[in-house]
Amino acid sequence: MLIDSHFHPQILQESLSDDQLAQLLHRAQQAQVHILLAVAVSLADVNYLQRLAQTYPQIYYSVGIHPLYIDQGCLPPAFVLPDDPKCVAIGEIGLDYGDDCSAEFQQVQQAVFRMQLQLAYQQHKPVIIHNRHAGHDILKILAEFPGIKGVLHCFNDSLEIAQRAIDMGLYLSFAGIITFANKSLDPLREVIQQIPLERILVETDAPYLTPVPWRGHYPNEPQYLTAIAQKICSLKNISLTQGAAAFTQNTMTLFNFQYDD
Ligand SMILES: [Zn+2]
Repeated sequence: MLIDSHFHPQILQESLSDDQLAQLLHRAQQAQVHILLAVAVSLADVNYLQRLAQTYPQIYYSVGIHPLYIDQGCLPPAFVLPDDPKCVAIGEIGLDYGDDCSAEFQQVQQAVFRMQLQLAYQQHKPVIIHNRHAGHDILKILAEFPGIKGVLHCFNDSLEIAQRAIDMGLYLSFAGIITFANKSLDPLREVIQQIPLERILVETDAPYLTPVPWRGHYPNEPQYLTAIAQKICSLKNISLTQGAAAFTQNTMTLFNFQYDD
């Protein structure tokens, strides 16, 4: 069994009917992906994700504002989490210093990141963190919240950032890019070899980042999670059974799922 710790059904549904989405979730079940965490990128997602989690016992969800979904003109208001046992995390939140990110917008992102970390801290919820070219600032801000639980999702940063994150008690989640042949991704594969199995989660980030051998297909689907899990297991020289048991245990521990099969 595997848990897809990060996918975006609210984005998938833009290109799929309700029926097609049900079929996609069925294919995930067939591929042993028995639990899925549906991750919000804006507060506009919350009603849809909540409804989906009510419909499908295997779906849990998070609530949060992704840095690229912040309205640059005005800071988002403080928000509260739904009183719902299936809302298990705050995310995705974080910093995205993509190509043309101004210093002013970096400041805004940091303020919104802190606001959401504060909420996570008060509510004792783990956070799902998005990081683009901002690893050092993310760890600096996280250090203001000692003991906070969370995961650096779709990890694609240096071994130094990975080790510091692990020292802070965080988990690292890996997506389809680790299966891409690009030589430039070899350092990321080395990170996987260096870090403890006990800190690794797996995710598809569907509809994005479809893994090899389906690379280039849109949308990506949770059923392809096995290819990502398999890649990690071969890098760590362990069986898929052993790896899958660890990824599942790690994800349950972090998000504190109440799940009866
Ligand atoms: Zn995502």
